[in-house]
Amino acid sequence: MNIILLGYPGSGKGTQAKLLVSNLNYKHLSTGDMFRDEIAKKTQLGEKVKSYINNGKLVPDDVVLEVIESKLKDIGDNVLFDGFPRTIEQAEGLEILMDRLGRQIEKVFFFDVDENNVIKRIINRRSCPKCQRIYNLITDPPKNADLCDVCGVKVVERDDDKEEVVTKRMQVYKDLTAPLISYYKSQGIFVQIDASKSVEDVYNQVIKHIN
Ligand code: AMP
Repeated sequence: MNIILLGYPGSGKGTQAKLLVSNLNYKHLSTGDMFRDEIAKKTQLGEKVKSYINNGKLVPDDVVLEVIESKLKDIGDNVLFDGFPRTIEQAEGLEILMDRLGRQIEKVFFFDVDENNVIKRIINRRSCPKCQRIYNLITDPPKNADLCDVCGVKVVERDDDKEEVVTKRMQVYKDLTAPLISYYKSQGIFVQIDASKSVEDVYNQVIKHIN
């Protein structure tokens, strides 16, 4: 099954994706993680996308689709798309790419949670720069001060999780990404998840639809 995780930044898509990868046979394709990795490695692509990300803007569709195309070739099925697509143009581009490969998207999980709630989560979000494990300083802090439970590396706040950038990202989501809700509803593959609940509860809701 190929699945899209859709929802506000901070709605828990990445956290659930990591659970699905470790518990089931899924492959996580997060465009945000991919871009951050390219920025950290100071590649040409990283340099190209950096200013968009740090200013809370979307990376242009053609750049995103080119990256996705190169990944899709080798990855096979059972893909979790996290943070992609983020515009109608990207959704249409994905459909073309999947058609060409004889594959399809079976489900779109929409992580429904209100804006104030996600802003609170994002401001308290920290992540491990090495393994990308996500923490919440209030509900799921690292066990040992500010060190990742898995790697022992200091957890960090993403540059684009700073309050002023978050406001911009929220607006971009409303303008460009939220239209995907009706787009996928009309395709009959849309599943609404109550993402205001605990990580475990959200996971159980998702699993019910996968099984
Ligand atoms: P995320 O980790 O999914 O919140 O993504 C972080 C940032 O990376 C976003 O705010 C965008 O600047 C950029 N980005 C990630 N995925 C996409 C995408 N599908 N389209 C455009 N920009 C993206």
